[in-house]
Amino acid sequence: MKMFLEKTGVIRLGIIVMLGSLLFLICGCSPRSKVVQRVDTAMGTIVSQTLYQKEGTKKEGESILQEVIACIQNLEQEQLSRRLPGAEVYQINQAAGEKEGIRVSEELKMQLETCMEISEASEGAFDITIGKIVQLWDIDGWAEGAAADEFVIPSDAALEAALTDSGYEKVEIAPGTVKLPANVQMDMGAVGKGIALDRIRALLEQYKVEGAVISVGGSVLTYGAKPEGGSWNVGIVNPADTSQNIGVLKLSGGWCVSTSGDYERYVEKDGIRYHHIIDPSTGKPADSGVRSVTILTRNGLYSDALSTACFILGSERGMALAEQFGAEALFVLEDGSLAMTEGMQEYFCLSNAGK
Ligand code: AMP
Ligand code: MG
Repeated sequence: MKMFLEKTGVIRLGIIVMLGSLLFLICGCSPRSKVVQRVDTAMGTIVSQTLYQKEGTKKEGESILQEVIACIQNLEQEQLSRRLPGAEVYQINQAAGEKEGIRVSEELKMQLETCMEISEASEGAFDITIGKIVQLWDIDGWAEGAAADEFVIPSDAALEAALTDSGYEKVEIAPGTVKLPANVQMDMGAVGKGIALDRIRALLEQYKVEGAVISVGGSVLTYGAKPEGGSWNVGIVNPADTSQNIGVLKLSGGWCVSTSGDYERYVEKDGIRYHHIIDPSTGKPADSGVRSVTILTRNGLYSDALSTACFILGSERGMALAEQFGAEALFVLEDGSLAMTEGMQEYFCLSNAGK
């Protein structure tokens, strides 16, 4: 009898030890995750971040959020701005018409080559050399809240002159240098936010972040996974009522979603909406029957460039362009109806009650 009790005691102790080590194993394998969130303004737009990082990781979630903002600011200050003297694009614009091209980073050279690729494929609908036209419309001024009564519609003559000083084929990209003819000015507003997503993704990889969803204006990056599982939901704004979504994209990590819409930046005068997406064939805001275009791809620069290009091309030609680049597209048309690529249907869920 005593012998039996001793044996069961040993067995019980064994079970407790086993359970203990199992618990240790579970805790050891998956330290708890912490979620951190932050909203800032950078690159002239709102940057919103939600990030999951395992506790005890070398780099704390909060300092990663901070680094993401610094990364966007650097991109603008050193590379893409046409207003900040330290930026490569500013210097290229300043040197327009000079004999020698400007020495540029390999990164910017590659980005410019991608822009040229999209310009060609979109037959010039996407064109970063519309800098002068953007200035004539004072699109940057609208972002800073210019009053509609101060807004002056550029004359046709001024637009025509600016159009002759634009054209993507005028950009000369040589090994290591970029050159513009006199009076041609670049504007990277259509791709900056997408390029930011590509840089941010590299940062999240470097710090082995568990999961994140980060939006830079109308461009959103999904990364990794949520510890509790489930998809990342990216809302698609209803252009007719921007306080509502028309639906959401349910995505795993690794996607870039860019939206171009006529509600993002505009001025209204005499009942007419003048928005910020310019048709390079007229020099005027594009009028293609589209109110917004959302592009889904794996690459930020492509998603941003294509969303702008597709807005100008309209749903039919835009859909063909997106498919040419293996991207999914969703168009909200002027009558409120939707058009989308077949692949997009897999991710898009319409909101209830038309929200
Ligand atoms: P997005 O909101 O990404 O469509 O970009 C719009 C911004 O891109 C504008 O504010 C302009 O700075 C610039 N942009 C406007 N029209 C074009 C165009 N046709 N091609 C390239 N960039 C453009
Ligand atoms: Mg864009």
